[in-house]
Amino acid sequence: MTTSEYLIAGNWKMNGSQSAAAALSAAVAAGADAAPAKAELLICPPALHLAAAQAALGDGAVRLGGQDCHEAEGGAFTGDVSAEMLKDMGCSHVIVGHSERREGHGESDSLVWRKASAALRAGLTAVICVGETEQERQAGLAEETVAKQVKAGVPDGADGDTVAVAYEPIWAIGSGRTPDLDEIAAVHGAIRQALTELLGDEKGAAVRLLYGGSVKPSNAAEILALDEVDGALVGGASLQADDFLAIAAAIA
Ligand code: PEP
Repeated sequence: MTTSEYLIAGNWKMNGSQSAAAALSAAVAAGADAAPAKAELLICPPALHLAAAQAALGDGAVRLGGQDCHEAEGGAFTGDVSAEMLKDMGCSHVIVGHSERREGHGESDSLVWRKASAALRAGLTAVICVGETEQERQAGLAEETVAKQVKAGVPDGADGDTVAVAYEPIWAIGSGRTPDLDEIAAVHGAIRQALTELLGDEKGAAVRLLYGGSVKPSNAAEILALDEVDGALVGGASLQADDFLAIAAAIA
């Protein structure tokens, strides 16, 4: 079981050069000592920059993660990266099922399950992303959609060490818009219920639930103060070390 209550994860997406990744990693590492003890910091650079990021992080407390992995351990899969390769590179986590993969690469719930299972096989923690479209929210289907994605995407043997779930409403990603606090609370409650139905009370309660979608220093405190929010998955604001660290510092 992890000792930190909150996971603050940065998804750098397909941004920056190798030297920029090294500089950003070093800046996060330099500020990490001042972060609340309750916060575990994770950065997820582009796969090609993992080595530079890892060298810059050194032996510090900031964790390294991939943004995606293939379901297989190895083989003829041009352009892909396996969970085992990420582990070998020094990663502790991998994001799977991000909406940009679901939408841009046609990834289904069952493929997300296989990728999450691959992460567990390799000894990585899978950060499994779920979230509704704007149309689904307007139709009152947000909780149902997300609970279904959780039940389809979380592997059976998962627990609080091997899986975190990130609720990322698709319409909130990169848009500057966020759901109301009571809407976030309601969806996180539905995710918790789906997890306990799937994994049992103890394991279901131990899985950390992150909120993602336009998290920034100015809204982090109120979001992270919600009962069922155990961290944040941060896109745009994770590209500035000061903003990323300010989000972690907003933990009460
Ligand atoms: C993301 O894509 O995971 C994300 C949360 O992005 P942003 O913070 O930029 O909305």
